[in-house]
Amino acid sequence: MTSTRPRRLRRTSATNAHGERQHRNVKSGGARAAVFGVSDGLVTNVSLILGVAGAHPAGTVVRLSGLAGLVAGAFSMAAGELVSMQAQRDLFERELEIEREALERNPDAERRELVAIYQRRGLTLAFASELAELMMRDPQTALQTHAREELGIDPTALGSPVLAAVSSFAAFALGALLPLIPWLVGRGNGALIASVLVGGVAAIGVGVVLGVLTGRSVLKAAARQLLVAAVAAAVTYGIGRVVGVST
Ligand SMILES: [Zn+2]
Repeated sequence: MTSTRPRRLRRTSATNAHGERQHRNVKSGGARAAVFGVSDGLVTNVSLILGVAGAHPAGTVVRLSGLAGLVAGAFSMAAGELVSMQAQRDLFERELEIEREALERNPDAERRELVAIYQRRGLTLAFASELAELMMRDPQTALQTHAREELGIDPTALGSPVLAAVSSFAAFALGALLPLIPWLVGRGNGALIASVLVGGVAAIGVGVVLGVLTGRSVLKAAARQLLVAAVAAAVTYGIGRVVGVST
């Protein structure tokens, strides 16, 4: 259940139809965040289910554990996303308020600040002054420009905490559901083997999608996902075998 935020910002590029390298959408990594959520749910529940199944309890125990793991993990992901995005929003909004006040109280100093920023970017004084003048003309444009240049944020795209929480919940739940399906319809070794197979195929699928989305080697990404899921599942299965259900 790791945070997906830093990974969303990873820079990627792809080649367009003319063979030129083109930027992919770096900031709105919603699709990638969803895949990471699915991956988290998958790894969590494959290892949870195999850990419990390793002790060979009744099929209903494995089913209950898997369901509890799904719900607990999905809520945990959603809560984490909600709290962190709300905190980020609050911080941004406070900074925006400070900037808005500064623009109202001291527009001249703010204009000079903008000129200095443009000069540091390599513009001549004349051109930087002209550009700053244009940007400062409309209060809304001025605030957006200062937010982008000074704070590095786009005030029109702060993101919805609730939407992020709901999509995290859904993504985790989907990933967690896959290895659980065999236990909803079957039991015993059959369900165990089916769970391992479904988990493995799903891990490869996640790797393939991640590879495509990040423009990296699909084969490597798939192998890495499979390895991570396999190691986690093997460790918990081993623990389940050793610890068992006897008290
Ligand atoms: Zn400013």
